[in-house]
Amino acid sequence: MGSGTTSLQTVLGATAVKGRKVTNLSKDGLTDFILSNISSKQEVKDPFYVLDLGILVSLMEKWTRTMPIVRPFYAVKCNPEPAFLGALAALGAGFDCASRAEIEAVLALGVSPDRIVYANPCKAEAHIRYAASVGVNLTTFDSREEVEKIRKWHPKCSLLIRLKAPDDGGARCPLGPKYGALPEEVTPLLQAAHAARLVVSGVSFHVGSGATHSRAYRGAIAAAKTVFDTATRLGMPHMHILNIGGGFSVGHQYEDAAVTITAALQAYFANYPGLTVISEPGRFFAETSFTLATNIIGKRVRGELREYWINDGIYGSMNCILYDHATVKATPLACSSSRANPTCRGLRTYESTVFGPTCDALDTLLTGFQLPELQVNDWLVFPNMGAYTAAAGSNFNGFKTSAISTYLAFSTPTRS
Ligand SMILES: *Cc1c(COP(=O)(O)O)cnc(C)c1O
Repeated sequence: MGSGTTSLQTVLGATAVKGRKVTNLSKDGLTDFILSNISSKQEVKDPFYVLDLGILVSLMEKWTRTMPIVRPFYAVKCNPEPAFLGALAALGAGFDCASRAEIEAVLALGVSPDRIVYANPCKAEAHIRYAASVGVNLTTFDSREEVEKIRKWHPKCSLLIRLKAPDDGGARCPLGPKYGALPEEVTPLLQAAHAARLVVSGVSFHVGSGATHSRAYRGAIAAAKTVFDTATRLGMPHMHILNIGGGFSVGHQYEDAAVTITAALQAYFANYPGLTVISEPGRFFAETSFTLATNIIGKRVRGELREYWINDGIYGSMNCILYDHATVKATPLACSSSRANPTCRGLRTYESTVFGPTCDALDTLLTGFQLPELQVNDWLVFPNMGAYTAAAGSNFNGFKTSAISTYLAFSTPTRS
């Protein structure tokens, strides 16, 4: 528990956290916190997030314990909530940024530019010039055109050659179709960078977001080693950075990945001098740290079927159903209709449909989902809503994802 408490102090003092109210969640306290938050502003029914910084601390400790030699560079695109970024920065994470605005957000926290990898293999020239101006000096590439742009606008930048992972890991969102050099493209790309007098300091890959099997990491680490060897054979400078990307999910998938990666690094890189191994986890840190509370704004009864409308949906936080191929689940908080038993324990349930607020039938979040009888002004709470949710929401139909508030809280970090 000792280090957990220390990390918590660190996080509470983080930029973008310090000065904000952070509620201590007692045991089983998230539901109580959401209830008290709802009842303290009866008239405000807007959806809101709760960020549990205790979960983030536990996840960081888990990472450090299970993969101590792999330094995480959090992928900002997954969830750029400023307090979340600030907490990660305070915990010592680096950052994977893909655009000028993401770099600005991270630098604004006081993070030094050498803790940023500009991990977008295809960058606009204006963004490359910006990276050069602020000293972000590490980026990825997988084409000759990118080499040419970097030579022109940021010749001091070190490069990581992005490989297409040999196996997409059964990923929910494969990235191979878009990014990564093929095996036969590696030598010409390394030669092009060398000819442009750019330093290729290592290799990166991404096995795909939401990877389901860990052997993909082993195959990709093996492929990376052959690229290190190719660089040596071509007489290029000694490569020293291996970036194993993201793809991690909390649970047994993470446990499997940590074991597989540790073994693969031992197998392929044990005797490689001066190697730094980094990674770009997004989902792993963000997914379980955030919970979303939404208000029931409408209801219709059709025979046995119950249909509800809530004030966040497919064009908002739940865009993850479309873009991230996620399934969401909801738990009821009957704050308005059943104050004595708001969690509805023991009540009979009905087959229910849950719609989002926009006037589009696509905005349907749950069908055939069992819920107790709820009323307008009751709430639905969605756990594990931190990854690829608010980050990609829109303001379609006047429902502003960007206006959803985040409340900060912390549970006691557990050794999970
Ligand atoms: C999206 C992305 C990540 C994060 O992936 P997760 O699956 O969320 O861990 C990391 N690196 C790059 C280059 C990405 O595009």
